Amino acid sequence: MNILVVDDSVTMRKIVVLALGNKVSVIEAENGKAALEITSREQVDLMILDINMPELNGLDFLKEFGKTPKAGKVPIIMLSTHTEKEIQDQAMSLGARAFLTKPFQKPELQALVTGLTGQSL
Ligand SMILES: [Mg+2]
Repeated sequence: MNILVVDDSVTMRKIVVLALGNKVSVIEAENGKAALEITSREQVDLMILDINMPELNGLDFLKEFGKTPKAGKVPIIMLSTHTEKEIQDQAMSLGARAFLTKPFQKPELQALVTGLTGQSL
């Protein structure tokens, strides 16, 4: 299973990659634009997506990804510092399946990944 981790913070990507463990393969992207390129050419089974990023932020990524043939076929977990309900609702209405706020608890992220993919970590 391939998981795409999209975050402009190298440190945050490292934390997420460590939380995912070594039963899955992880692809990293530093912003939504890079993530769009990767999803167009790679098999991605799940995405973990930040919101605040340069080039293309997480919400704009969701809008663009929603126009592609893979829309709706790849579960997306938002992982963001945004706690506002409007932003969370917007992400969910744009196709995200779950919203986790930073700092996150490792078991919480793992449970979401397992719940959305059926694969234990
Ligand atoms: Mg960020």
